[in-house]
Amino acid sequence: QTITKPPPLPSPLRFSKFFQFVSWQSNLRILVTGGAGFIGSHLVDKLMENEKNEVIVIDNYFTGSKDNLKKWIGHPRFELIRHGFNDDEKDKNMVYKVSHYAVLIIDLPLSVDVTETLLLEVDQIYHLACPASPIFYKYNPVKTIKTNVIGTLNMLGLAKRVGARILLTSTSEVYGDPIEHPQKEEYWGNVNPIGVRSCYDEGKRVAETLMFDYHRQHGLEIRIARIFNTYGPRMNIDDGRVVSNFIAQAIRYCSWNHIAPPACIPFLMGEPLTVQAPGTQTRSFCYVSDMVDGLIRLMDGDHTGPINIGNPGEFTMMELAEAVKELIDPKVPLKIVENTPDDPRQRKPDITKAKELLGWEPKITLREGLPLMEEDFRQRLGVPKKQAN
Ligand code: NAD
Ligand code: UDP
Ligand code: UDP
Repeated sequence: QTITKPPPLPSPLRFSKFFQFVSWQSNLRILVTGGAGFIGSHLVDKLMENEKNEVIVIDNYFTGSKDNLKKWIGHPRFELIRHGFNDDEKDKNMVYKVSHYAVLIIDLPLSVDVTETLLLEVDQIYHLACPASPIFYKYNPVKTIKTNVIGTLNMLGLAKRVGARILLTSTSEVYGDPIEHPQKEEYWGNVNPIGVRSCYDEGKRVAETLMFDYHRQHGLEIRIARIFNTYGPRMNIDDGRVVSNFIAQAIRYCSWNHIAPPACIPFLMGEPLTVQAPGTQTRSFCYVSDMVDGLIRLMDGDHTGPINIGNPGEFTMMELAEAVKELIDPKVPLKIVENTPDDPRQRKPDITKAKELLGWEPKITLREGLPLMEEDFRQRLGVPKKQAN
């Protein structure tokens, strides 16, 4: 492993009340695992705004991209850690074909995987590394479990060695197909332990258990956020999640009508909005800037959690499709397609704890957030908005 900077002041002291007071002026070294991903890169942007923070990112680029961090590369307070590969391995990229559209090319020599031991000196760890979209986490389920279990164990081992505070981004999936609605943190969930989603939801449940065992056994300072569906700019365009799918589908569907060949060719396979049956299942969508704000408040606050971070506005998938149509083009058709196994029928966070303990609640409604995402997707797909005549 590469350790590129000298270690900072003794980290275990940083979080004791007394030393927090004495050392308030010194910089915080913050590790973000999965920092090249969707939420991770927005978190890095926010952390970098504070001049007292030094931010270190590790990522294996399975679903993330260095592009998401390009504005920070070379910044004196930012570090993207890479593994020391031999020269003859430098050109070996891994190519995965994960879905109809998505082919991932992974820049191996530059990647760091949380399933490997990692030696760094840091004060805080935001542990996000883990694919979040079902098509990616189901692609290699054994790897997903390793990431959740071994990856979290390693980050806890690291946190223990250097006395860092560690925050895990857990998920609303720990509630499974919930029988209680909305979901409170006290609810233990209804999870299929042997289903196709279990690598992710059971993986995160074990990760939460590990966090609490390290807390109880070794006195680690832990924070657990249970994140509900989050959306916004920089989501992988073809990652299969519902908001990104609907927006990309609507833009592609409309674009081939008014873009001349050859520019329209990539969009000719454009499909209608694919609402997975029955379409009455619900989700609650949180805009990414609200999410990042909640994560930072949780890390810097006094409560271990688990705390739900999400937007309680609840929508059926049919309602979401209608909202996207209304935004992009009312003529885009919908198609009901087959669903995947174990799809939760309802999901909505009870955020009383986040409000009371963190003073946090989301500010951006779905109708305010969707246009921001449309703008980003149009830019990346190269399809400008049609000017009204
Ligand atoms: P993402 O897939 O965009 O980001 C995950 C990042 O982790 C990627 O950059 C990926 O390359 C990296 N990664 C994956 N496996 C790794 C490994 N073994 N070693 C190192 N890096 C690895 O996902 P996201 O939406 O940004 O989610 C971030 C975190 O939030 C995840 O832990 C996810 O479980 C959690 N979460 C997200 C949502 C959501 O709606 N986006 C909901 C609930 C929980
Ligand atoms: N670990 C790590 N970086 C560190 C310290 C530990 O990656 O700085 C890993 C280590 O490889 C081990 C895991 O974290 O697999 C758990 O470490 P811990 O010290 O808690 O347990 P032990 O090594 O005693 O099993
Ligand atoms: N979904 C859909 N069409 C799509 C992709 C997903 O109707 O093209 C539905 C899916 O069945 C689920 C919901 O949208 O009920 C949310 O799925 P997503 O994969 O975004 O997140 P998760 O299932 O992890 O909440």
